[in-house]
Amino acid sequence: MKMLTETKALNKLRTLKTTYQNLIKTNYEPKAENCEICPTKGACCLDAHFVNVHITRLEAVAVRETLHKLDEEKQKEIYRRAEETIEKYNLKMDGDTFLQTFACPLFEKGVGCLIHREAKPAPCISHACYENQADLPPEILQEQTEKRIENMNKRTYGNAWSWLPLPVWMSLVNPFKEESKNKEINRR
Ligand code: SF4
Ligand code: SF4
Repeated sequence: MKMLTETKALNKLRTLKTTYQNLIKTNYEPKAENCEICPTKGACCLDAHFVNVHITRLEAVAVRETLHKLDEEKQKEIYRRAEETIEKYNLKMDGDTFLQTFACPLFEKGVGCLIHREAKPAPCISHACYENQADLPPEILQEQTEKRIENMNKRTYGNAWSWLPLPVWMSLVNPFKEESKNKEINRR
């Protein structure tokens, strides 16, 4: 297996996500409801009974790089929100983590998804509200994208690519935490 540097992997990840985002936008979104005029904008990201978005380590680093462009106080606020989300919804790293649901800390009132352009997770790219089930993007498209993401993670960090709830990975790469607390990341 040919390994990748983190920088190279992040570039490849960005290209993959942009390609997937364009594919969904062009072929499926025209039949979806318009988020711009949604009366419950953000309900899809904040529904704590529904959202179980998982990401990998490489995506977590991409999220961190995207947030890094914001001012420091804002970044701290967002990471604090991620820590609070873990506590509030009792998110764990073990067991069937996909059963755990939460309100996403990356949704910002008045702005929307803070990582929309550069680091949006595959399930979020796929998601929209459709009147007809038949108009939804086939699941296989998302599965193929996630397989490619997994592969990039393996080629970057060896087997430490595990899928975890988004707030958990945010906490593991939180640049404002003491180094000792970040040791866990090297175990994964
Ligand atoms: S995905 Fe659905 S709930 Fe979310 S903003 Fe768009 S229309 Fe509204
Ligand atoms: S990552 Fe963005 S699109 Fe996905 S649930 Fe969070 S705020 Fe919503």
